[in-house]
Amino acid sequence: MKRRTALKLALGAAVLIDNSAAAAFLSTCGPAPLLKPQPYGGELPPASPPPEMAAFHIPAGFNHRTAAFAYRGGAFSDQRDSVSTAVLVMHPRGDLLIDSGLGRQIDSQFQLLPASLRAITKYNKTAPAADQLEAVGYDRHSLRGVLLTHAHWDHTSGVADFPGVPVLLPQAERDFIAANGAFTEFIRNTPDVNYQVYDFEGGHYLGFPRSHDVYGDGSLVVVPSPGHTPGSVIAFMTLPDSRRFALVGDLAWQREGIIEREERPWLARLQDDNDPLQVRDNLLRMSAVAQRFPEMILAPAHDARGFAELPLLT
Ligand SMILES: [Zn+2]
Ligand SMILES: [Zn+2]
Repeated sequence: MKRRTALKLALGAAVLIDNSAAAAFLSTCGPAPLLKPQPYGGELPPASPPPEMAAFHIPAGFNHRTAAFAYRGGAFSDQRDSVSTAVLVMHPRGDLLIDSGLGRQIDSQFQLLPASLRAITKYNKTAPAADQLEAVGYDRHSLRGVLLTHAHWDHTSGVADFPGVPVLLPQAERDFIAANGAFTEFIRNTPDVNYQVYDFEGGHYLGFPRSHDVYGDGSLVVVPSPGHTPGSVIAFMTLPDSRRFALVGDLAWQREGIIEREERPWLARLQDDNDPLQVRDNLLRMSAVAQRFPEMILAPAHDARGFAELPLLT
């Protein structure tokens, strides 16, 4: 009898511990908006996109997630597809893919990821970007490079499908790849990657301290946004119809992260962010820009809504 009581007590304690751990975990998913940053006071930087410039989105895979997974305060019942999308930028000075989506070899590449990530990730395939480009008769010789928002697996899987095409990234991200992290296994296992490192030779841009004007006409300007990875960038794109896009990579996974100033939940920050405090700084910087220019289209890399503002390839 005594033994049974002791067992009951132990079980009760375990349940209590479990419940309190669950409660503690859930509390890290609740809303906790960051303090409002100083408003951004500058004007929109000039841009002269040529009339022939165009951009398309190429959906290349997705995961079923919920808003709660993506940002603090998101609901567990709010289903969101976490998309892996490549953007094709067509420009007379050479076309670019921004990120590459899930590529032709995703099934074998996926086995390179840590078991803990594989256990919570169920990806869904669509036609890889390379196949979609082929299907519309796109001449891949027009492709000047794949510009990465960062080198995580879900952004680089498709790089293997474009052998020889330069992969454009800043030195900090090149070093991050060389550092052997688990989430950059895909690109490290891609043979003969033609890395081309660019510098941030330009001055401040929309509150970010440095910039790289890819085409020299202000139509595609990349700024450093370190934190999620050391060499993460944001690509600001201006189209001939004057619409401005902020392709923010994984600075936030859904646009509420920026608009509502909500970070990723604690566990996601712990697992996915190289330096969560830097992510916070850049999230606030981007949030100030979004507040000043609400017409700017925010396109976090896994949020289908921003990309839907771009046409599909036909
Ligand atoms: Zn990432
Ligand atoms: Zn990602």
